[in-house]
Amino acid sequence: MSFSTLGLSEPLLKAIQLQGYTTPTPIQLKAIPIVIKGRDVLAAAQTGTGKTAGFTLPLLERLSQTQPQMKSKQIRVLVLTPTRELAAQVAESIATYGKYMKYRSMVIFGGVGINPQLASLRKGVDIVIATPGRLLDIAGQKGVDFSRVECLVLDEADRMLDMGFIHDIKKLMKLMPQQKQTLLFSATFSSEIKTLASGLLKDPVLVEVARENTTAEQISQVVHLVDKGRKRELLAQLIKTKKWTQVLVFTRTKHGANKLCQQLEEYSGIQSAAIHGNKSQGARTKALANFKAGVVKVLVATDIAARGIDIEQLPHVVNYELPNVPEDYVHRIGRTGRAGLKGEAVSLVCIDEHELLKNIERFTKADIEKVDIEAFRPDPSILAQPIQNGRGGGGKRNNSRNGNGNSNRNGRNKQPTESRRSQEKPKNTRAEKIGTNLQAKLDNLDKRSPSGKRRR
Ligand code: AMP
Repeated sequence: MSFSTLGLSEPLLKAIQLQGYTTPTPIQLKAIPIVIKGRDVLAAAQTGTGKTAGFTLPLLERLSQTQPQMKSKQIRVLVLTPTRELAAQVAESIATYGKYMKYRSMVIFGGVGINPQLASLRKGVDIVIATPGRLLDIAGQKGVDFSRVECLVLDEADRMLDMGFIHDIKKLMKLMPQQKQTLLFSATFSSEIKTLASGLLKDPVLVEVARENTTAEQISQVVHLVDKGRKRELLAQLIKTKKWTQVLVFTRTKHGANKLCQQLEEYSGIQSAAIHGNKSQGARTKALANFKAGVVKVLVATDIAARGIDIEQLPHVVNYELPNVPEDYVHRIGRTGRAGLKGEAVSLVCIDEHELLKNIERFTKADIEKVDIEAFRPDPSILAQPIQNGRGGGGKRNNSRNGNGNSNRNGRNKQPTESRRSQEKPKNTRAEKIGTNLQAKLDNLDKRSPSGKRRR
C-alpha cells in the first residue's frame, strides 16, 4: 500500500517522498482516508506510531480543497496539545508536509510573549497548534475568533486531562461551532476520556493501532536493584563503561532532575541538561536541541516535559526513579526503540520502589529482568521509606499546570476527584446516545492487552 492510494494530492505526495517515507504506517493507512472524508475519529494511538502525519496530512488535504476568505483572528483548524514541545513538533510536521502548499499556521503556548501571537492571529490563520492555557488567555482577550473552526484535533488527550486541562478544554469547546470535524487521539482511555469523547465526537470511526515497536520486540528492559543513595554513582558508571552517547534519564521531580544534572557534572564530569516545567521555554528548546545534536549526552527529564518528544534513534532510556503511574513507564521506555531500531531501557530501583515495580510488571504483564551488579548490591539493612514526590512530599503525581510550565491564571490548581470525574455525564441526549455506542467500542479497547515482554 502506498501513500498515492490514500486520496492525498500531488503537493503532499511530493513532500512525503522528500521525507523518504515509502509506506504509510497502520494508523496513517486507516486514518488518512477517513479524515479526508470529514468523519470524526477516535484514535487509540501513541507517539511513535506516525499519528502526527496521520492527522496533519489529511487535514492539509482538506484545507487545500476550499479557500474561504478568512477574516482577522479567524482560524480553520485547531490542534490542542498538552505540552509546548508537542505543539512545536506538530507545527514542524505541518511545515514539513505542507512544504509545497499555501497555508498559514502558527503555534500558541505559554512561557513566551503573547503579543507576537496576537499579531499573527490578527492576520487570520489556517492552522493553530496550541496548548489550552495560553489559547484560553488569548480567547479571554478576544484575540481569536473560533466561529470558522472546521476541524479540532485533541492530541494526547489523556495527558491533557492528566495535566488538569479539562476545564480549559471545556471552555474552549463552548466557543467553537457545533458543526465541525473532531479528531481525538489518546494512548489510554480512562472514564474521563470516554466522557470527553462522548460529548465531543459525532459517530466517530474508531482507529486503533498497536505501537509498531512493541516493548517485547524492540526494547530490552532491565532492572538494576540499587540503594537510593548510590543511584547517581551507578548511572555514571553505566554511562562511562557502556560508552553511552545519548541517554534520556527520567526523574520523578523537577528538583531531582536539576540535582542529578549538577551531581553528574560535579562528581563524574558528565555533561548533561535538564528539561522540565520550571525551565524557560528557551532553555527547554536549547536543551533538547543540544541533546538531539549530540552536544550533551545526557538529558534528564520529568515525565511531562518528555511527553511526546520524538528523538530519532534514541538508544537508551534510564528510569533513575520509577514513575508513580505504570502507564508512564510505558511512555518513558517508548522514547527508545523507535522506527524499527533496538532500544534499551534501564531502571534503577531502590527498596522504596519495589511496590511501584510490581505495579509496572502487573500493568505490562511482563517480568522485567533483574540484573545484579555486584559492586552496587543493595545494603539489606536499609529499610523502605515512603516515596517523596517533590519538595512538598505527598503520594500523588504532580498534576499542577504550573509544574508543567503552563500559565496558571487565577492560581487554580485543582483536580476533580476520581469520584467527581466518574459522575460527569454527557450533557445532551444526542451525546448520550453517541456515548452509548462509543462506550461499547471503548470497553473493547479496555480489553486490549498492553504489549509486554513475557506473558504471564
Ligand atoms: P509520531 O508518532 O507522529 O510522533 O511519529 C513518529 C516518527 O515516525 C516521526 O519521526 C515521523 O517522522 C516518522 N514517520 C511518520 N510516518 C512515517 C512513515 N510513513 N514512514 C516512516 N517514518 C514515518
